[in-house]
Amino acid sequence: MTRKQGRGAVRSAKPGKPVKTVKADSDVPFQKNEEVTVDIVGMTHDGEGVGRASGFTLFVHGGLPGEKARVRVLKTKKQYGYAKLMELTEESPDRIKPPCDIFKECGGCQLQHYDYEAQLSWKRQHVVDNLRRIGKLQVAGEDGAEEGVIVHSAIGMDDPWRYRNKATVPIGAAGNGELVAGFYAQGTHRIIDMDDCLIQHEHNDEVLRVVKKVAHELRIQPYNEETGQGVLRHVMARTGAVSGEIMVVLVTNGKRLPRQPEWIEHLRASLPGLKSIVQNINEKNTNVIFGEETRVLWGSDVIYDELDGIRFAISARSFYQVNPVQTVALYRKAVEYAALTGSERVIDAYCGIGTISLFLARKAGQVYGVEIVPEAIEDAKRNAELNDIRNVTFEAGPAEVVMPRWRKEGVEADVIVVDPPRKGCDPALLDTILALKPERVVYVSCNPSTLARDLRVLEDGGYTTVEVTPVDMFPWTVHVESVAWLERR
Ligand code: SAH
Repeated sequence: MTRKQGRGAVRSAKPGKPVKTVKADSDVPFQKNEEVTVDIVGMTHDGEGVGRASGFTLFVHGGLPGEKARVRVLKTKKQYGYAKLMELTEESPDRIKPPCDIFKECGGCQLQHYDYEAQLSWKRQHVVDNLRRIGKLQVAGEDGAEEGVIVHSAIGMDDPWRYRNKATVPIGAAGNGELVAGFYAQGTHRIIDMDDCLIQHEHNDEVLRVVKKVAHELRIQPYNEETGQGVLRHVMARTGAVSGEIMVVLVTNGKRLPRQPEWIEHLRASLPGLKSIVQNINEKNTNVIFGEETRVLWGSDVIYDELDGIRFAISARSFYQVNPVQTVALYRKAVEYAALTGSERVIDAYCGIGTISLFLARKAGQVYGVEIVPEAIEDAKRNAELNDIRNVTFEAGPAEVVMPRWRKEGVEADVIVVDPPRKGCDPALLDTILALKPERVVYVSCNPSTLARDLRVLEDGGYTTVEVTPVDMFPWTVHVESVAWLERR
């Protein structure tokens, strides 16, 4: 492959600042370190600006759709390359000043430079693009189509800050004997110390500050990934948004937490809402945060929280949606799409601690929940009892194994709700849905691409996707949650 040096005309983006552009006469029209002007024409699913120059694509971190920028080429491949944003020559009207001081370094948020309303439209469009490209679905309003899947505007938050009820962050050494806790810088394992995270519940920020301070005072060594030495690996703080109850989970390298009584005393003295201190043991030298063994050091094994009047017990290892305000919006939409009249038999697959199951049970005849994590199913059963909801049964196991067995045992379903992890539904589970022939399927998804892939399978099996509603569960990040409603043809 011959690389030609760009030898285009010199053009001024701003008076006195000459910028080179190039001719499109080669596959890779740029050389490393060359400066070029690009039009940012879109944004990738991970929030990178998609720049175009001379018919070539350059990904530009920090660029927003509609902008023009002078960039420096970092690396090129056959079809595309990467470039560093040097100067914006035309700014998007949707560009805002990121309110967080560490936005640039921290990998936690990706879109704090993007106006919230613009983010919501981008998220909707991201869902539309996936449905069309991967799901091969016709979307109403796209390309002049009147018919097709209706994709609603994303449901946003009135106040999109401080929404997270859970923080899980690595602990490291600051160099001066103090500890740092925070997210990893994007694409690295360097911890960016975080004292005040603007998308986090204040309680959780306080837990992290207190844990760092206590660990420092008690001379607890943070875990070092390279040497495998040290004690404290991660801290998880979880707060019930309605109850205000706090759980602290200390993930340790080794069974012993040195100076355990002092830990408990210090944490209790500093955190008024504290209800539970839990230790999780992880001795493996991997990226996985939690180990197999979890034990309560003080207080309860759960904290309680409430969603739309239903109470939930949440244990350390159970999945619980991180944005409670939007979770209520999401679950209400899922229940609306299920269109229950009081007699239906409903399966809730990937049910976690039974949150959606209990929302559904208020309107259904009988609900069956299935979930792979046994502790979550224990929580789910406890939650049904706690709310005196009796028309629901839960079973632990892989949904793709349990549901086919239910079918053999004669379980029928009028409605099936699924809420899988990012990788989407197991093919065997999709087959079982097709075999059970429910009238409706409600698909809750945290990943538009696997959603689109699975909708295609269901469409080919006799279902029509009627509507999709994106719900903004993770403002200022690129994550997009959505709920889809399908009807049997
Ligand atoms: N519906 C719940 C949980 C959704 S998260 C809520 O809204 O809170 C997805 C859940 O799927 C997690 O609890 C995870 O443990 C579970 N899971 C992952 N793989 C699974 C499988 N193969 N079968 C059943 N559950 C699974």
